[in-house]
Amino acid sequence: MQYEYVTRHEWERTAIYFAVGMLLIVTGAIFLFAINRIVGAILWFALVAIVLVALVSWHAKTYAYRCKQCGEEFEISGVTDFVSPQGIGKDGAWKFLRCPRCNKLERAEVIKKVKP
Ligand SMILES: [Zn+2]
Repeated sequence: MQYEYVTRHEWERTAIYFAVGMLLIVTGAIFLFAINRIVGAILWFALVAIVLVALVSWHAKTYAYRCKQCGEEFEISGVTDFVSPQGIGKDGAWKFLRCPRCNKLERAEVIKKVKP
């Protein structure tokens, strides 16, 4: 697997995907709760689950991480992706993860998987 640096364009696309996901959840809530409170709530929770799973699995499949201590490049599961805090610092994007090689818990650098 090959990796490359994440460009600004990539970040904008990620932000747009998440914004669309949130918009779906909000508009879904308005429409579904208007139809029926109980059935609407069940359908809305299903919608939230689908949107979150779709976004998180896409994110986990698209991005990988590089350990700043040893340089190990590794991928994470959708579950880890969902629960790990992520942010943007002066050195670019990071995600708080444990490195599988040196076992250090630190801010790993976010990199993009290059599709063959
Ligand atoms: Zn490491």
